Amino acid sequence: MAIDPSLTTSWLDEFPARIAELDRTHLRRRRRVVLPESGARLRVDGQSMLAFCSNDYLGLANHPALIEAACMGARSFGVGATASPLVSGHSAANDALEHALASFVGLPRALYFYAGYATNIGIIPALVGSGDAIFSDTLNHACLIDGARLSRAQIHRYAHADLAALEAALAQSPAQRKLVISDTVFSMDGDLADVPALLALCERHDALLLLDDAHGFGVLGPQGRGCLSHFSLTGARASPRVLYMTTLGKAAGVAGAFVAGSDALVEWLLQKTRSYIYATAAPALLASALRASLQLIEHDEWRREHLRQLIKRLRQGLATGLRGSSWRLGPSRTPIQPLLIGRNDEALAVMEGLRERGLWVPAIRPPTVPEGTARLRIALSAAHTEADIDQLVQALSELAAAC
Ligand SMILES: *Cc1c(COP(=O)(O)O)cnc(C)c1O
Repeated sequence: MAIDPSLTTSWLDEFPARIAELDRTHLRRRRRVVLPESGARLRVDGQSMLAFCSNDYLGLANHPALIEAACMGARSFGVGATASPLVSGHSAANDALEHALASFVGLPRALYFYAGYATNIGIIPALVGSGDAIFSDTLNHACLIDGARLSRAQIHRYAHADLAALEAALAQSPAQRKLVISDTVFSMDGDLADVPALLALCERHDALLLLDDAHGFGVLGPQGRGCLSHFSLTGARASPRVLYMTTLGKAAGVAGAFVAGSDALVEWLLQKTRSYIYATAAPALLASALRASLQLIEHDEWRREHLRQLIKRLRQGLATGLRGSSWRLGPSRTPIQPLLIGRNDEALAVMEGLRERGLWVPAIRPPTVPEGTARLRIALSAAHTEADIDQLVQALSELAAAC
């Protein structure tokens, strides 16, 4: 909505109208107040709901072993880290966690951060700057995009997963330092990047590859070791031109993030990442919980197997249930199953229809996803049961038939 400047005395007076515009275009976001219940259930504004919106893919966020480890960590280390890791905030627990994380993903060294968003917005400007070039998939997560902007490097966006376009852009760029950035599992579509092909292009064009495995860590690869293990690119086959990052707030069920790679790259990031240097370290109690989480990720293969069964059940159920509907399930084999609806108001109406049936599936709208591709982002978790999936399939089939 255009706002006539003569009608406002201060730009601060514009905010009510700007918020009303968000309402009018169905883009206003609302938070719900939640409390965990058992399994994948949440109490939402007082009502018990079956949730398909958490990224707790392995169902670890409320695991007793993690809760106990966090309590033990608090008893040993206190609650607050009290300082930046470069001053006095780097606790023995955080140090031990970094070693465990590096070894878990099969890379030489890891650096543990308090959040994934802060990791990406900090490490990209530490790697490249003015005169350098970044190559970014159009569906990359917001924090990769924001990190690229903060760096002041030239940004080349290539169409989603279009490796020919990426190759052409790499070949044309005169920049001496080239950085390719990509999600591994795309967060709103659930599809998987062709990591070996990305790496081959980076090798050919002397580029560095930064991978964001927020939705792959714990889920992909043997023992959930992430996308590099999935593609056998760890240990002796690890490439010095790969930087691997992931959050620890999703499948790991806790909070924080880490970046891993060669000793020289990680040392450089430790020296130059402003969001690391000028922020208080993550509390050690989280590192304690994360050590417990790593044990379960590694040893509870049944969680990933159960998840695979649930994904299969959902896809088979909806293939039948949505026959004749214009809604389309994206081609994803991961726990992120996007149901493409199209219009913002229709996606919101379906979300509302599910809510009335006690099911919580978030509608995702632009600008998070491209215009005209509003969708339900169904996130599955090992905390779900087969009956939970059947209930969702049944509800969506009824709503599609009524549409
Ligand atoms: C969630 C997410 C992040 C941010 O991680 P936080 O630890 O939640 O800050 C980064 N990248 C991707 C792809 C994500 O989905």
